[in-house]
Amino acid sequence: MSFTAYITKETGRDLRDLDNETIYKELLGYVKSLAKDKPKNTGKRKVYYVSAEFLIGKLLSNNLINLGIYKKTKDELEKAGKSMAEIEDVEPEPSLGNGGLGRLASCFIDSMATLGINGEGVGLNYHCGLFKQVFNANQQEAEPNYWIDNPSWLNKTSVHFDVPFRDFTLKSRLDQIDVLGYHKDHKNALNLFDIEGVDYGLIGEGISFDKTAIQKNLTLFLYPDDSDKQGELLRIYQQYFMVSNAAQLILAQALERGSNLHDLADYAYVQINDTHPSLIIPELIRLLTQTHGLDFSEAVAIVRQMTGYTNHTILAEALEKWPIAYLEEVVPHLMPIIRQLDDLVRQTYSNPAVQIIDGDQRVHMAHMDIHFSTSVNGVAALHTEILKNSELKAFYDIYPEKFNNKTNGITFRRWLEFANQDLAAYIKELIGEDYLTDATQLENLLNFVGDKAVYERLEAIKQNNKRSLKRYLKANKGLNLDENSIIDTQIKRFHEYKRQQMNALYVIHQYLQIKKGHLPKRKLTVIFGGKAAPAYTIAQDIIHLILCLSELINKDPEVSPYLNVFLVENYNVTVAEHLIPATDISEQISLASKEASGTGNMKMMLNGALTLGTMDGANVEIADLVGKDNIYTFGKDSDTVIDLYAKASYSSQTLYTADEDIKEAVDFIVSADLLALGKAQRLERLHDELINKDWFMTLLDLKEYIATKNAMLADYEDREAWQEKALINIAKAGFFSSDRTIEQYNDDIWHSQVTK
Ligand SMILES: *Cc1c(COP(=O)(O)O)cnc(C)c1O
Repeated sequence: MSFTAYITKETGRDLRDLDNETIYKELLGYVKSLAKDKPKNTGKRKVYYVSAEFLIGKLLSNNLINLGIYKKTKDELEKAGKSMAEIEDVEPEPSLGNGGLGRLASCFIDSMATLGINGEGVGLNYHCGLFKQVFNANQQEAEPNYWIDNPSWLNKTSVHFDVPFRDFTLKSRLDQIDVLGYHKDHKNALNLFDIEGVDYGLIGEGISFDKTAIQKNLTLFLYPDDSDKQGELLRIYQQYFMVSNAAQLILAQALERGSNLHDLADYAYVQINDTHPSLIIPELIRLLTQTHGLDFSEAVAIVRQMTGYTNHTILAEALEKWPIAYLEEVVPHLMPIIRQLDDLVRQTYSNPAVQIIDGDQRVHMAHMDIHFSTSVNGVAALHTEILKNSELKAFYDIYPEKFNNKTNGITFRRWLEFANQDLAAYIKELIGEDYLTDATQLENLLNFVGDKAVYERLEAIKQNNKRSLKRYLKANKGLNLDENSIIDTQIKRFHEYKRQQMNALYVIHQYLQIKKGHLPKRKLTVIFGGKAAPAYTIAQDIIHLILCLSELINKDPEVSPYLNVFLVENYNVTVAEHLIPATDISEQISLASKEASGTGNMKMMLNGALTLGTMDGANVEIADLVGKDNIYTFGKDSDTVIDLYAKASYSSQTLYTADEDIKEAVDFIVSADLLALGKAQRLERLHDELINKDWFMTLLDLKEYIATKNAMLADYEDREAWQEKALINIAKAGFFSSDRTIEQYNDDIWHSQVTK
């Protein structure tokens, strides 16, 4: 049934007479009705991708595309005088993730469905998700993001489990979202567990809330501030609630499908996405032994065959270590099992670095994962090498066969077909549409290298995307983009290791150059987007600096014809979908060794932006694929950086004192001009941090960054040469399809049967 026919049947009215809100709700119902009757994938070994985050983005258009009816539906709407883009705007964006890790999980469930793998996501249904970012007085403030509308994509189920905590038992409810593969008959689900009785009344100022009322707040927010003990305890409550539900779901489904539990590993594989779901290991063992009567040693052996762990970072603060005292307070029934697992490790290995429980009575989640799983993977080639050779070397020495790399990927259905419809259509014109399921086909674009007509079309498409971005930013964010400027984009979480502060110092440098009369050939617009964790002071200070710079520069009539700076409020998947197709320069400037992979870098490359980056994460693989003429790299390499940390020999003070340009840019942070716009405490703290600490070595690479960026801007003037590089980047992006990543997970780790 067409959408028009559906509308007539459901409402008895004409599409023309309905407003956008109503049309959105009807479209939602229409898509859900089409998804409802699809059979599920049935591969015997079912993959459970357990993740605290799924940054799914809006689902309407993605689902229409995967159903193969996006264009048809859009045309029907247009015939009735309606705009698909305006209807897309009505949909609230769920914020069930922080950034890259949650977005990766979402690309993965799209790819699992597209490949016909019986693989489902399991996570939590946070009612307010990650906070909504608002700017006030050039600072970030946080508000709750109420994203669950009625109706929504969530389907209620009758599945409930009892989850035992020390002081009470919480009954769960399972909500599901259908996950449709691209042009596939079979579907999967995203399983989001919730509690009944979430109480919005607990929320006070901003996103503050009573953290102790667990039975009413457990799924209220994603990762609340864990800078205090109550926050940390709530996080353990959330993690255990998630994994106990996941474990009970796994056992119930395996039993239903004929498992006798001794053969559970033939029916299930659990991929642990970062350490947040690690307690699923002792929880599965607890249920197998205490509820189902298996021997402890058999249960351990089974669980060990059916779990894999993905490491996402080498930043120490992200490798979770929970104090035993906290676990005793929340889930005392797991501690005997964790202690038994720790004993098993101690019987074989004496090295304290590989124990589960350390001398400070803390439980190392990653250590438990590594000992009791079949696979440990990093998320880009360099990252996996660093895990093997330094961060997790003691484990690699024990289990070399477990370690493997799975370079991250992105779904091209969302990040090209949907986000950049003009480019997608043009690529189809050139090479057909098979690239949507076989991304390596993009390499056929290399046949057009040297074809000036192709370069002209790429130029026109980019220009058109800049105009669309201008409209979007004006209507939604109150910003005035110059569509004729070079668009230079750094969008990602605010973190010192990602070095937005280095880009800000470039902006200052360029501002001072313009003030001195050194005028650039063409206007540059530097766009930032990203949230900072509420308790991360320096990241908040960096946001403050950028907002102050934005005010200073955009209002200065001498400078603004040459330079604009924007920080787009509330960066999320929707904002990314608008920014990326319009971007010329993709900023990927993390301190080498610190960014595990990055996926923003892949999205931008696929959309014809050129990377300005360090040799870090997947940038290294981008450089290998496109060749050094088609990427702009700079900065010290990971070996050098790791060595600087090992010897503690980095001194930002020395660099600051020795170089006039660096000193001038850094000191501008506390200039009278900026202090007039900002908070002295924040600006002075950041200034002081850069000179005296600079833990992520901004000043180390600053000079080279400025020089490389300037060379890149000069190269921009040769439009044909630039578009040739862009074309090569698009052609070589096929490797970064999440279909490739998931195929590798399945071939090497999961071994699940595929439904064709
Ligand atoms: C892709 C994506 C990210 C990850 O970006 P990185 O540059 O890899 O850190 C974060 N947030 C959103 C909304 C994204 O779409």
